[in-house]
This record gives sequence, structure tokens and C-alpha cells, in this order.
Amino acid sequence: MTRLINFSAGPATLPLEVLEEVQSELVDYKGTGISMLEHSHRGSAYAAVHEEATALLKKHLGCAETHDVLFMQGGATTQFALVPLNFLRGGSADYVDTGTWSKKAFAAAKYYGKPRWAASGREGDTVVRAPTGLDLSKDARYVHITTNATVAGAQYHQLPDVGDVPLVADMSSDFLHKPIDTQKLGLIYAGAQKNVGPAGVTIVVVRKEWLKDADPDHPEIFCYPYIAENDSLQNTAPTFSIYVVGKVMRWLDAQGGPEEMGRRSAKKGALLYGTVDEHEDFYRCPIEVGSRSIMNAVFTLPSEELTKKFLDGAAKEKMVNLKGHRSVGGIRVSMYNAVSVADVETLCAFMRKFAKDNG
Ligand code: PMP
Repeated sequence: MTRLINFSAGPATLPLEVLEEVQSELVDYKGTGISMLEHSHRGSAYAAVHEEATALLKKHLGCAETHDVLFMQGGATTQFALVPLNFLRGGSADYVDTGTWSKKAFAAAKYYGKPRWAASGREGDTVVRAPTGLDLSKDARYVHITTNATVAGAQYHQLPDVGDVPLVADMSSDFLHKPIDTQKLGLIYAGAQKNVGPAGVTIVVVRKEWLKDADPDHPEIFCYPYIAENDSLQNTAPTFSIYVVGKVMRWLDAQGGPEEMGRRSAKKGALLYGTVDEHEDFYRCPIEVGSRSIMNAVFTLPSEELTKKFLDGAAKEKMVNLKGHRSVGGIRVSMYNAVSVADVETLCAFMRKFAKDNG
């Protein structure tokens, strides 16, 4: 077997232990004679899987009493629309611009009310920072942030203080990479395919109290309270994706939970950016130091030609999916939970040698 080191931004690498367990259960799930791909979403085998995945997510988020955990479909992109559909109700909301994904969230909100920009992460053309000073309006129904800008490579390392207004966070690319202060949040959404599982399911974590403010005047499948009342089983759930998310949550538990992921993430970030900074004439990171993402690190090389040579050389050493997003180019190293410290060390050794040979 040749497993590559996969630095993809998503769908992303999953823990090998999880893949092997899925493989061993694939044809005959725990002696039931059929696969989890084939079990009914109303049957007892799946019910236990659904319940465990929900309970472990609540445990890792520390929100069992206060928030509902929903499993939805349509990706984080669908949540760009469903958050305002449920909560904007023709009013205004403050959005924070950290690039590509926040702009898409803003554009979707315009269909349901009056979103306004409360801050921009952009300064000129070269620096992209996670903004701190927010210009919040008194009548915002919520404040929306993208905690990690997957394309730009900038991240909030602390949640902003928004007073009593519900804070909504798109955490698609940094969900559970460290402990989350869920009590500060009205709603979190995250496509599973980066840090917690395969594509096909989106995790939504919503404060139970806030659900009372949701607009009921929409088809029920779009309404968070309806999904919550039905424990996300109002229609056929993406059963297999949720089953894998449950396994990743169990793996997370065994590794030491979000606390241990936080330690590893910090280590991986320090290794990667340490290597970039050691070779500042060769590798350049355009992100302000305090806003550098420890999930998706971006940097550039002196030329397109060297970038291509870097990608080819890394692939020969079994490291793949390092190409920057097509809109920005350069290199992007996604270091989600299933990417180990050793994987990042291997990449850093390659980077040092590449800079020495080509600098
Ligand atoms: N938000 C962020 C921060 C993302 O990184 C992505 C996907 N890369 C999305 C939203 C869109 O997610 P999806 O493809 O699940 O709709």
C-alpha cells in the first residue's frame, strides 16, 4: 500500500485508523449482514451511529445543554443562504470580510435582508489579516465571521467580542482544530470534508434559545427548528458521511480531544512558518504574522517556474495537493487534524533542501 501525504484543502486526508475501520466494516456492518451504506436511516443499526456521532460532537464542543447539533446537506454554501433565511427576517446583519467565502455568505444574505460590512480583512493588495476592530451596528440581528479564510490563509485566533448579538461562524476549515468556545456562539456551520469527515454532510451547531427567533415562514426543510425537532432525521440523512464523522469523533476522543489537536496544530504551524521565515528571500507569506492560518498556510516562491518545480519535486516524495487555490496561486499547505506533526516535518525538510538547491 502506498499512502501519500495529502495536504489537500478538502476533501482532505482522514485518519488511517478510521479508513481501515470503515474498510473492515464495509461489507458486513457488525454482523448485521449488510453495509452501513445500505442500512435504513430509520433502522436501529443506524440510529446508534447517529446518536453516538451527535453525542461526541456535543462533548467535543462542550454544548450538550445549550446547543443543538444538526446534520445537513448542501455544503457550507447552503448555510450561506439558510442562516439569513432563518434569522435575518428583512433586517440587517454585520458581516466581516476575510475574502472569498465571506463574500459569498454576504451575497446570499442580500436575498433576505440588509447585510452590511462591519470590517474588511484587506489592506492594499498584499496583506490579508483577520480583522479585529469591528464597526458593529446596534440593530444587527447577528454578526457573521469566517474563522479561517481557506483561500487567503488568514485565521482568527480568538473570537471577536460582539456583545449580546448572536455570533455566527463559518468554521468550515478550522472546526475542532482546537477547543471551541461554543458558549460565545449563536451558530456554527462547517462542511465536514476538511477536519471531521467526508463530503456530503454539513455540521450546524445552533443555540437552542436562538431557534425561537427563526422565521417559520419557509418550506420546513429550510428551517433549523424543524431539523432540530426531528433530530436531523426529517428525511433521508447522509448516513454514510455521518457514520464516518462519528468514527472521526471517536478517533479525536482517543487522541486527547480538541485540546490535543490544539497542541498539535500549534506545533505544525510553528514548524511550517518557521521554515518559511528561515528562508525569507525564497519563500514569502503574504499574511500578517498574527493572522497566519495554522490550518491553511500559504506562501509563494520567486517564480512560476520554481513553483511548478516545487510541486513536482514534492509529488515525487509522495506529498500531494500543495498547489495554492486557483485564484491566488503559489503554495497552500492544509494541515487539518489528520495531518500529523511528522507529515509537516517531512514537508519542512523538503522545503529546506529545495530552497538550498534553488535559492
Ligand atoms: N466556507 C469555507 C471557509 C470554505 O473553506 C468552504 C469550502 N472550501 C466553503 C465555505 C464552501 O463549502 P462547501 O463546498 O461545503 O459548500
